[in-house]
Amino acid sequence: MAYQLDSRNFSGKRVLVRVDFNVPLNEQMQVTDDTRIRAAAKTIKKIIGDGGKAILMSHLGRPKGGPEDKFSLRHIVPNVQSVLGVPVHFAEDCIGDKAASVVNAMKNGEVVLLENLRFYKEEEGGDEFFAGRIAENGDVYVNDAFGTAHRAHASTAVIAKFFPTDRLFGYLMEDEVQNIDRVLNSNQTPVTAIIGGSKVSSKIAIIDNLMDRVDNLIIGGGMAFTFIKAQKGKVGSSLVEEDKLDVALDLLVKAREKNVNLLLPTDALIADKFAADANTDSCGVGAIPDGWMGLDIGPASVESFKEVILRSKTILWNGPMGVFEMEAFAKGTIAVAEALAEATKNHGAFTLVGGGDSVAAVNQFGLAEQVSYVSTGGGAMLESLEGIELPGIAAIRK
Ligand code: AMP
Repeated sequence: MAYQLDSRNFSGKRVLVRVDFNVPLNEQMQVTDDTRIRAAAKTIKKIIGDGGKAILMSHLGRPKGGPEDKFSLRHIVPNVQSVLGVPVHFAEDCIGDKAASVVNAMKNGEVVLLENLRFYKEEEGGDEFFAGRIAENGDVYVNDAFGTAHRAHASTAVIAKFFPTDRLFGYLMEDEVQNIDRVLNSNQTPVTAIIGGSKVSSKIAIIDNLMDRVDNLIIGGGMAFTFIKAQKGKVGSSLVEEDKLDVALDLLVKAREKNVNLLLPTDALIADKFAADANTDSCGVGAIPDGWMGLDIGPASVESFKEVILRSKTILWNGPMGVFEMEAFAKGTIAVAEALAEATKNHGAFTLVGGGDSVAAVNQFGLAEQVSYVSTGGGAMLESLEGIELPGIAAIRK
């Protein structure tokens, strides 16, 4: 079965599209970042361009299982209209008569946005009866919500069974799946993964999965200190997860066994408090004085990480090298972002940035356009890197 949007023409069809329009709103209920709406535009335009009817459904925020005005998708209608360049009709419910009457009045090439799916607790509960009721709104189901693909909710996974031969991936979903596959199963070697961020505990499964897939594994950020301390380094008051010291040692052994070149920082930028105006210094990563903490990788680490990045053909980056939100501790993260951009430009390396803070970092440094792909899904991306087949993806392929 072909799951690709391009394999179909949607003329005259009611196409029910699960999008991720969970966008941030300010106090005046205005959208402050429309990235997620823009990310779904290509799929919606293909459907209406074919002369199909695009019925959009999404969640927004975390309502408590009933309607709440501040979580109404009505607020985002003007933004969806301006991104798509066509009028968008709004249905005050995602199921039942209120949805049906708006959907039934649609002409070919029109767009309807249904009200927030999470006004029903059955959405997150993955309720099959509820999924069936949403399914009544469409002839074809398209999932383009990569950001929620790791959730087995009614609209992201359970609903697929109501469309046994008419369920497809949207373009965004297809891109995300293909690009993650391109780094996890690459034959463009050397393959390098750069993992950073605060806690090793949240990245153990990822590091474990990457061991079988990469040549180089660079570990930076706060989590590196658990590895340094596990090897008897002095880390001062740097972030350490004491209960993960054994896990860190196991990962180091595993890397050796699997012939993975695992790089840890050799030096650190240290501070006498966790603050932008702290006194700073640099020192060996395992020789941090008491009362000081490592808040960024040091210059020697930057050079050794860069050297590996610049000779890699496939590169995955997740997690900052330091507390990049404070200018004083952003240098390591900036250097890694710039090295990725350089590898992409100089020798056509495939570079993927994914997962929360590294995405924020490339955006903040204005480098998002200079890497091959920036993933839109935080949790979904991380679970993919753990090697888990996401429920939203499995449901389409089943
Ligand atoms: P995570 O959510 O685990 O990906 O971690 C991202 C956060 O890690 C960012 O907010 C960074 O400020 C923080 N971080 C990175 N390096 C350090 C460090 N050396 N010490 C404390 N926090 C850090």
